[in-house]
Amino acid sequence: MNLSKNTSSSTQGARCISTITVVDSLAEITRYQDRELLERSLAITLSELFPTEIFRLFRIAMSEHRIRAALAAYAHDGVIVSELNQKQYQLSESLLSAVAKAIESRSVIEQPEQRNGVIHIIYPLYDKHEDVYGVLLQLTQEPNFNSQRLTYGLLRIYSNYLALLEDSRRDRLTNLLNRQTLDTEITKRIIAYTQLDETAQAKRRNADKVCAWLAIVDADHFKHINDNWGHLYGDEVLILLARLLEKIFRQEDMIFRYGGEEFVVLFQAPDRETAFNVCERARQTIEQHAFPAVGSVTVSIGTTAIGTQEGVSMVIDEADKALYYAKEHGRNRVCFFTDLVEQGLIAAKEAFSSGGVDFF
Ligand code: GH3
Ligand code: MG
Ligand code: MG
Repeated sequence: MNLSKNTSSSTQGARCISTITVVDSLAEITRYQDRELLERSLAITLSELFPTEIFRLFRIAMSEHRIRAALAAYAHDGVIVSELNQKQYQLSESLLSAVAKAIESRSVIEQPEQRNGVIHIIYPLYDKHEDVYGVLLQLTQEPNFNSQRLTYGLLRIYSNYLALLEDSRRDRLTNLLNRQTLDTEITKRIIAYTQLDETAQAKRRNADKVCAWLAIVDADHFKHINDNWGHLYGDEVLILLARLLEKIFRQEDMIFRYGGEEFVVLFQAPDRETAFNVCERARQTIEQHAFPAVGSVTVSIGTTAIGTQEGVSMVIDEADKALYYAKEHGRNRVCFFTDLVEQGLIAAKEAFSSGGVDFF
């Protein structure tokens, strides 16, 4: 069903939704800059417009031709029904193959459910490169062409808005995230940890999800690279470092260009050993990579677990201390803040006053 081209004025069962309501909806959807809030806002707005229907928004990731769909927002009757056990809302095999069909045919499709006569309407969502990044599933008793057109239109505006936001969050040289959203992302992880800490039960259930880590990756002697090969080669190295980091870390991890030749990675790992292995693999992969003209480039990495800190600056400060230690002790190495504290090599609370690593 190609909703964008079909301009027929079907009125069958159409609900009367005023222009003012639609404009209000748009204002509401675009009120946020945080992607998660935007997703919720979209789902709530749609379910306010169509109160009898259920909306689920999934983020889509393709890996080796397999589609992975992660629930991002779920709304019914104008209320978000999320924060529940996500597994409950995983897509059935038949829905997943219908989603695949919608993605492949690049069109909105209807998938009737045999058992109870309800119909799933599947809308694929595209980014500015025309790649699918999500799908919206609308569960309805009575499909209605006008409501589908309105939903489709709102989704297009939402996608365009997301693309604009995405642009402003990206670093021009490397296309990695810039530091604009880093604080928010760290805060989210601190809050997640605090909440889980409150109930031991929830903590156990989500134990594998709470272990968030922050690593600062800083190129060693980068100034020499610029001095010896010129700024353009320096830029090329930064771009290649960015691509290597993207390969090494998982799609769900977040990589930021934090300053000139410094990157920050927010990644998940269930324990310290795994986190260390991830960072060590990154260090080795970069060390072994043959950079055109420049040859070998190494990085130092300072890492800390996110959770118990009082705020964002404390998280950064801990990773920074670990990085500084790595720089002072030979470079091309990975240091973990808690290891250094436990070994008495650095003080946990001491103010970091003596010439820390500059971020700019
Ligand atoms: P260390 O091992 O202690 O980190 O030494 P370093 O030389 O990497 O660190 P320093 O902070 O002394 O120098 C960083 C250099 O990175 C200086 C700056 O000119 C360069 N730089 C920062 N941003 C860019 C950029 O966008 N492109 C290029 N080519 N160079 C950059
Ligand atoms: Mg630096
Ligand atoms: Mg450096």
